[in-house]
Amino acid sequence: MSFSGPDAAGFCYAWPEPENSTLAMKYLLWIGLFLIIYWIMRKSGNRRNRAATPPTSRDPEEMVTCAHCGVHLPVSESIHAGGRYFCCVEHQRAAQARSD
Ligand SMILES: [Zn+2]
Repeated sequence: MSFSGPDAAGFCYAWPEPENSTLAMKYLLWIGLFLIIYWIMRKSGNRRNRAATPPTSRDPEEMVTCAHCGVHLPVSESIHAGGRYFCCVEHQRAAQARSD
């Protein structure tokens, strides 16, 4: 039973002793690069979050359902009458006519 095959030799040659210092330098370089990338991503992420909040109010807007036809629409585009929401004046009138 012997472990000194061609694979073991190849593994040994993958980590050469005399180049340890340059290997460490390479690792330090990579760590530095990762730190810089991480720092930039954090910075740009913060800026994106801050910029995304004020201009578009598309997502936070409340959605309501037309009491007549059941269509979903943003509350700013709906007609609010008698505690109910409608998609258009016609449906508001129709619902009122139906309830009267
Ligand atoms: Zn409607």
